[in-house]
Amino acid sequence: MATDQALHMPAGELIDPFGRHVSYLRVSVTDRCDFRCVYCMSEHMTFLPKRDLLTLEELDRLCSAFVDRGVRKLRITGGEPLVRKNILWLFEALSRHLKSGALEELTLTTNGSQLPKYAQALADCGVRRINVSLDTLDPETFRRITRWGDFANVMQGIEAAEKAGLQVKINAVALKDVNEHEIANLVRFAHGRGADLTLIETMPLGDIDGDRTDQYLPLSIVRARLMDTFTLRDIPYRTGGPARYVEVQETGGRLGFITPMTHNFCESCNRVRLTCTGTLYMCLGQEDAADLRTPLRASSDDALLQTAIDEAISRKPKGHDFVIDRRSKRPAVQRHMSVTGG
Ligand code: SAM
Ligand code: SF4
Repeated sequence: MATDQALHMPAGELIDPFGRHVSYLRVSVTDRCDFRCVYCMSEHMTFLPKRDLLTLEELDRLCSAFVDRGVRKLRITGGEPLVRKNILWLFEALSRHLKSGALEELTLTTNGSQLPKYAQALADCGVRRINVSLDTLDPETFRRITRWGDFANVMQGIEAAEKAGLQVKINAVALKDVNEHEIANLVRFAHGRGADLTLIETMPLGDIDGDRTDQYLPLSIVRARLMDTFTLRDIPYRTGGPARYVEVQETGGRLGFITPMTHNFCESCNRVRLTCTGTLYMCLGQEDAADLRTPLRASSDDALLQTAIDEAISRKPKGHDFVIDRRSKRPAVQRHMSVTGG
């Protein structure tokens, strides 16, 4: 007899068909943002109606269902996660899993605009490290890239995070003709404040205003150029994400490269992504997805939800296959990064 007890039991850790242990969940808590970065969004976006969003309580329940199945790292992202109303409630709720030891890390990726307000409260919830996106040190270029962002405000955010004792990692998207000549300065800036810097290639996700082939700058070129200025030494350091790191001898700091376009990093992929409507994407670069909102809402216990999670993980694909195609000019994946969560 299949007892209720048996149905409620989480069925162990999440292992995909290629033997990869899914231990990392990224959660996009909103698709909205107070910036409009040129590589991420068009200027006039249509966002999801608020009624389609999961409540913060539902997001907590979903995240907790993954923690029950051995997820050890949760990254809250978006859109801009810190513009979601009452978002601190979710961090406070999830911090119980840090206290119990079930979760190793609760973290977030942010554009930094709300950090002056929230940095200390995040640290109080047990957040230890955060990723802050910063593509340039020039206020005018910053405005050109983010369209709506204010450089001084983000710098205040980074300072507030450091003051609250958060370990900051800077993420910068490498953009042809826009910030490519600043990258050595970004290295000095980040390392000068004890922060790692990670460089990211633009990925073809969602329609933006303009042509992505104009933005794309292979990191192989960036790396070769940096070697004119710095001595780079490959190191085995990993953060659980897809970045490959070098140590910069002159600064003593770490520099990461995320190269979805020039190198396939899928063989060690340990993560899945949940949207704010409860859709689970098993790969950032594929359309296939699983609806977790229906089983979540269908019953107050997690049996149906856990079955749906198992079914989704059994479909996790081997990898993505991004191409920036000059002829078709279509994004490889229709949804924006702000929907799936970067
Ligand atoms: N709003 C937050 C931020 O900007 O940090 C979190 C969400 S944002 C989608 C997460 C990361 O994705 C950012 O570092 C951003 O630069 C990056 N990103 C957005 N669109 C991208 C694209 N098309 N290709 C590569 N990286 C992208
Ligand atoms: Fe907003 Fe982040 Fe996308 Fe920029 S990259 S538009 S800050 S979600």
